[in-house]
Amino acid sequence: MFNKVLIANRGEIALRIHRACRELGIKTVAVHSTADADAMHVRLANESVCIGPPPATQSYLNVPAIITACELTGAEAVHPGYGFLSENANFAQIVEEHKIAFIGPTADHIRIMGDKIAAKESMIRLGVPCVPGSDGAVESVEEAKRIGEEIGYPVIVKAAAGGGGRGMKVASSDEEMETAFRTARSESKAAFGDDAVYIEKYLSLPRHIEVQILADGQGNAVHLGERDCSLQRRHQKVLEEAPSPVIDQKTRSEIGEICAQAMRDLKYRGVGTIEFLYENGEFFFIEMNTRLQVEHPVTEAVYGVDLVLEQIKVASGKKLDLKQEDMIPRGHAIECRINAENAKTFIPSPGKVTGYHAPGGLGVRMDSAIYQGYSIPPHYDSLIGKLIVHAENRRKCIRRLERALSELVVDGVDNTAPLFNKLLKDPDVLNGDYHIHWLERWLARN
Ligand code: ADP
Repeated sequence: MFNKVLIANRGEIALRIHRACRELGIKTVAVHSTADADAMHVRLANESVCIGPPPATQSYLNVPAIITACELTGAEAVHPGYGFLSENANFAQIVEEHKIAFIGPTADHIRIMGDKIAAKESMIRLGVPCVPGSDGAVESVEEAKRIGEEIGYPVIVKAAAGGGGRGMKVASSDEEMETAFRTARSESKAAFGDDAVYIEKYLSLPRHIEVQILADGQGNAVHLGERDCSLQRRHQKVLEEAPSPVIDQKTRSEIGEICAQAMRDLKYRGVGTIEFLYENGEFFFIEMNTRLQVEHPVTEAVYGVDLVLEQIKVASGKKLDLKQEDMIPRGHAIECRINAENAKTFIPSPGKVTGYHAPGGLGVRMDSAIYQGYSIPPHYDSLIGKLIVHAENRRKCIRRLERALSELVVDGVDNTAPLFNKLLKDPDVLNGDYHIHWLERWLARN
């Protein structure tokens, strides 16, 4: 096991990783920008290193500074968290070239899954169900139109290098294809420096359901069921739950086993999430995230597994000691992402937190790095906390979540907690009856 781990991240996830390290008896090194000198992750870590000025490109994305911080402090491993460098294959490679362990998959696996065309090809080969679509990249409008007719409109043109919902355009007919194809291509070029696009059947009202996997790079893998993340705004997840209200145990085992087997065949290492759209009882792979996800705590609650601790263990070369037959979901968990944003307009609201009280009690977990007197810097994402609630069943979980929300106090900045108070009263949410477009439509009405 490692003696010292450098956490190449900030905010709640840096704290989350620090906690797992502490419990494993591992010392932590925090890195931070000048804007984060007073941040909680810096206060709690055993050591800290300032790696640059506020802009992320000069600090949290500054690879030479992070490698230097490892060398200065003698850290033997780097945990990248999510976002920032977590899915940067070159970073993973550079870390390993410096004889430092990367707590995540190999650079090759990150590279394959980061290219959506290559990812889809691998998944088809591994027997994972995918959305019907073009066979690789589409080079011309004529080819795009031919494929549109072949698979049937509506279709979606997507950037191979895509992320964050950018470079995606829907076409409902031959006439619309020309614009969709050209726009997706130029958006992709501008955002990712790569204009490769591919085409998929556009599913009209699917749910977003993702499978959590954990593997040791030595051919062993388990799945920890699914999360339903269909409640999204602008392709950003807002509320996530495990298990999905529409997946039964048989379906869970079937899709989970397909995913776990794919990871055994790949000799994948670490945690990973295989994302699907789910419509009319069928799963369609869209992408794989080769890192820890924001919403991992709902899975931890339902399976009683510390995913970060397991992630560190397999990165240090240990064999996976979890057994699939022990991975039994218990009860229900829901996570609300609380952002420092206005709950109606979603305008970011950085600034000083003048008062803070976190909810508590049985089954309540608040993952946050804010504290009273903390100033939320304007330079980074607006997530200030995740409220995760676990209970015996979905109905009780929602009641507990309402109770926990009523205890939360964040003064001085706007935050999105009031949105959840309202959302949890909607009959569709209470019934688990929603899809990926549901929240946008609800927000337009409310
Ligand atoms: P990104 O990496 O940019 O987030 P994804 O491939 O994960 O891109 O897709 C993001 C979102 O776009 C999905 O959650 C879904 O809402 C929508 N989407 C993607 N592909 C399709 C599709 N084939 N049909 C319908 N919606 C889609």
